[in-house]
Amino acid sequence: MALGKSTAVVIGSFALGESDRLVTFYSRDFGKIRGVAKAARRMRSRFGSALELCTLGELVFFDAGRSELVRVDHFDITHPFQRVREDLERLAQAAWIVECVARLTAERDRHVALFGLLVRGLRALEGSRKPARVAICFGVRYIEALGHRPRLDACVECGRAYPFPRPSLGAGGLVCEACGRESADTLPISPATIGAAERLRSLSWEEALALPLGRAEAELAVLLEAQVSRLIGHPPRATKFQRELRRLLSASGEHAAAAGEARL
Ligand SMILES: [Zn+2]
Repeated sequence: MALGKSTAVVIGSFALGESDRLVTFYSRDFGKIRGVAKAARRMRSRFGSALELCTLGELVFFDAGRSELVRVDHFDITHPFQRVREDLERLAQAAWIVECVARLTAERDRHVALFGLLVRGLRALEGSRKPARVAICFGVRYIEALGHRPRLDACVECGRAYPFPRPSLGAGGLVCEACGRESADTLPISPATIGAAERLRSLSWEEALALPLGRAEAELAVLLEAQVSRLIGHPPRATKFQRELRRLLSASGEHAAAAGEARL
């Protein structure tokens, strides 16, 4: 039985049997790993609160090699991302980020840059930036890290160079008006949003978080969501949570009140 060790983030956690927990980690050294944490749901479990979603820690596991599931031996918290979990808006975006990673990565496929991006995204959610902006910056880079960078300099169908009037965005990138008429799977994209997407890609992480986007921000969020849904095969579950949260927030009118109530 081989012993494995790596820094990792909890990206999924489900009850298993009477008292165990099935945990999905995204680790720096092994990529996505799924493992069983024995007795993790007992009152005085040695795991304590370590296996909560988004927790960053040091994972020690046993790999019997017979199944894809490992046995989680230790998970010692390095950073719990408490601030993310205590705020609904932050939590909603964090849930989207970890779901993207959980669904679009293969098991044991090491991708150190992607691990770094995940941690950077969660750290930014703890800061003062708008959570929705953090998710956009994460999403743009994440899709690129997976190798699905959309082409923004020409129509992916006919090769016509951009700029052209009334562009839309399809699976692989921009589509011109004529080609877009033949494809149902495209969404309109404004020139401002194309420019914003290009800039978010080329700027440093901190600059991207601070870049004023105006109305392009909402459009980018919609387009990213479409791209992620296309890659997953259906919309992320976290999106439904976000939609319900927005309804709740606009009904209460005040975010602080909503977050406070949720904590009670
Ligand atoms: Zn075309």
